[in-house]
Amino acid sequence: MTTWTLAAAKALHELPFLELIHQAATVHRAHHDPNKVQISTLISIKTGGCPEDCGYCPQAARYHTEVEGEPLLSVARVKAQALRAQAAGSSRVCLGAAWRNVKDGPEFEQVLEMVREVSRLNMEVCCTLGMLTPHQAKRLEEAGLYAYNHNVDSSEEYYKEIISTRAYEDRLETLRNVRKTAVTLCSGGIIGMGESLEDRMSMLVRLANMDPYPESVPINALVPVEGTPLEGQAPVSIFEMVRMVATARILMPETQVRLSAGRTSMSPEGQALCFYAGANSIFAGDKLLTTPNPDIAEDQALFRALGIQPQAPYEKHAPRKAADIVSPALGEKPKWSRPGHQIPRNEEKRRR
Ligand code: SF4
Repeated sequence: MTTWTLAAAKALHELPFLELIHQAATVHRAHHDPNKVQISTLISIKTGGCPEDCGYCPQAARYHTEVEGEPLLSVARVKAQALRAQAAGSSRVCLGAAWRNVKDGPEFEQVLEMVREVSRLNMEVCCTLGMLTPHQAKRLEEAGLYAYNHNVDSSEEYYKEIISTRAYEDRLETLRNVRKTAVTLCSGGIIGMGESLEDRMSMLVRLANMDPYPESVPINALVPVEGTPLEGQAPVSIFEMVRMVATARILMPETQVRLSAGRTSMSPEGQALCFYAGANSIFAGDKLLTTPNPDIAEDQALFRALGIQPQAPYEKHAPRKAADIVSPALGEKPKWSRPGHQIPRNEEKRRR
């Protein structure tokens, strides 16, 4: 395994643009079919009302956004949405809940049932539910979960400027807990939050030096939402996005690099450039949790224009089999931290 340094990652990122994407495309072709892109669908199974203070997120209860809180969806509704997504070409479903961390109890049992039901549809199931104990990770594995998403978001240093209700180390602890199981890891971040180039590279180096690195790395461009502390951030340019994708591809040759939030502001040509530079997944559906996303018909037209085929489920890793013996809940009482430092722009938006 290559150990990456910050200097090496920065040097790559700073290559002349055409040289960088050529190198990235060469790595991409050596490890993936360049004409296949996975379509994933993100289903918000529990929306809004989150106690955290992530400065980019309209689901944080403390900010005044248009997001309406909704309780946990029923298993039947999630299954119906997954079937619609599958009919539209998705091979992966990500179930997202606006929670700080998973709590043992009826809601977690309901999520485990969702995992079992959607896995039976021959779809890769990913969950993003917040912080997770080792036993909860084990229970998700037993339910047949394919992947767990927990983004590191940014560099460790810049993380403190975005979130005060939990520590970076808690993120890493959850990732380690998932790695104790056979569930694959999905972890990436967001650019355009006011971070420096060094922060972006530090985030990629952190991911790339995990042993093994995540099987899936989403690269998001901030979608500034009115009422959140980051509402006034300037948009990320397409060249910044392509450079980020290309660098991620070179640092993590085998991973599935996912074009995530921010695609609505990218032209079809810009997205094609991202695919060339090594992105091989998109999120489909008109909403990405609560922010806008391109219409599925637009994505299908783009795939036709580029001759891209949707990637089938389990092309990269074998499916997880649900276990016959299911462990009971342990009711662990984890001590997740609450740094609680003041982030002036977060406080200002909370008070408004
Ligand atoms: S990003 Fe997740 S944890 Fe942070 S406020 Fe939004 S829903 Fe909560």
